[in-house]
Amino acid sequence: SGKAYCFMMRTRQPAGVVPNRLYLVMDDLADQYGNGTLRLTTRQAYQLHGVLKKDLKTVFSSVIKNMGSTLAACGDVNRNVMGPSAPFTNRPDYVAAQKAANDIADLLTPQSGAYYDVWLDGEKFMSAYKEDPKVTADRNFNGFGTNFENSPEPIYGAQFLPRKFKVATTVPGDNSVDLFTQDLGVVVIMDESGKEVKGYNLTVGGGMGRTHRDDETFPRLADPLGYVDKEDLFHAVKAVVAVQRDYGRRDNRKQARLKYLVQEWGIERFRAVTEQYLGKKFQEFKPLPAWEYKDYLGWGEQGDGKLFYGIYVQNGRIKGEAKKALRAVIEKFNLPVILTPHQNIILRDVEPATKDEIVAMLRAGGVQDLVDWDSVDRLSMACPAMPLCGLAVTEAERGLPDINKRLRAMMTKVGLPADQELHVRMTGCPNGCSRPYMAELGFVGDGPNSYQLYFGGNTNQTRLAQLFADRVKVKDLESTLEPIFAAWKASRRPKESFGDWVSRVGFAAVKTQAAAAAAT
Ligand code: SF4
Repeated sequence: SGKAYCFMMRTRQPAGVVPNRLYLVMDDLADQYGNGTLRLTTRQAYQLHGVLKKDLKTVFSSVIKNMGSTLAACGDVNRNVMGPSAPFTNRPDYVAAQKAANDIADLLTPQSGAYYDVWLDGEKFMSAYKEDPKVTADRNFNGFGTNFENSPEPIYGAQFLPRKFKVATTVPGDNSVDLFTQDLGVVVIMDESGKEVKGYNLTVGGGMGRTHRDDETFPRLADPLGYVDKEDLFHAVKAVVAVQRDYGRRDNRKQARLKYLVQEWGIERFRAVTEQYLGKKFQEFKPLPAWEYKDYLGWGEQGDGKLFYGIYVQNGRIKGEAKKALRAVIEKFNLPVILTPHQNIILRDVEPATKDEIVAMLRAGGVQDLVDWDSVDRLSMACPAMPLCGLAVTEAERGLPDINKRLRAMMTKVGLPADQELHVRMTGCPNGCSRPYMAELGFVGDGPNSYQLYFGGNTNQTRLAQLFADRVKVKDLESTLEPIFAAWKASRRPKESFGDWVSRVGFAAVKTQAAAAAAT
């Protein structure tokens, strides 16, 4: 069938940064070769769905010629490096975190030319690509444990990695990137002046994916690895990648992610082995302030006289009239954009004088103001799932909007305030692309119209949710959740969130209190 020859293409956008020209190209490609929509992902990249095999070469070359890349967007190498989406151009910490994301993406880019040969007939598009020379030198420097000096892949070697590898950078306190779900997390630490980078805190061993009915697989939060001075960052990143390359399980793909190695060894041993590759000890992890979830939606000041405008995009899908209006604004005012880890989009470099016209153009295209969205929608996200992802066993993107409405109705019915927040995430399979195991209420597809329910994550994305129930049918959501919401309303501390309440009282109390609520 034609379907068998449809492809999904994902782009590489470190820290979600998209130049103006690339946005316009992606918008065109979606219409000409995709399914007419743009999908923003939870890793701050694009997915184009429905690309036909015969068009792949045209699409790939258009992206690369226009400063994007699809290189290493999938496969057993480093995936899109996430970074904080804050558009504060005069905040040295944010600028440094975004640069670190870009540099690490360069550092871990496969060097083999094979990829471009396949798609571009060996044309040298890479010559237009400017990499920081320090990154090139550091990638090729062979200071530890490897014999790949003359290999085309100085970091990955002949075998690449056992499994995909995910990195995010951020600044202290800003957990918009879901730091603890990453294989490797990099937190920029500034010097006393706040102007220069001093070094980096590193975390390792986070990950979401699991498999149903396989208890050996599980989501895991990253552990603190240590602190390195500024000049050691790339060596430390390479050391972590090399340990995973050399010790990660290759016999079983389900056990091949870095998190299982860290779990099996424990962080002490993992640190000790990584230090051998690094050739020095990690310093003590620097103390950090509490983490917060930030989404940068709405209007804000960049700090350089210009404005940014964060636009909520339901489940990351840009389509229809809204897609046209967004494109018109981005084109007319020559705006670059940032894709956020919550699948939203931020317009950057907006001249204050153009604000009213931008708002008018967007509203005319049906792009709603933030205040018109329910906070349950604003905080929620779903993966693409059916019909676009081959692994999906049920709906996510198409199912969540209606389920959010039902969740709000249940909360209202049991007397919770109209602005009560609830952090909901849904996936069509246990792979966990929308990071459901961090949500206050996570839905993980386990059959047709059926989900596992995970309870107890928090909005700051620092606590794992736990499995509360299996095989809950969509039609039974009210009978399952309404008594639980009633119990939450009755026994919560002032303003206590759902995730915090569940985590404080425990599942046994949730069940007894819900049973009591159902009986009244
Ligand atoms: Fe990811 Fe599974 Fe959703 Fe597919 S169905 S996008 S693999 S979570």
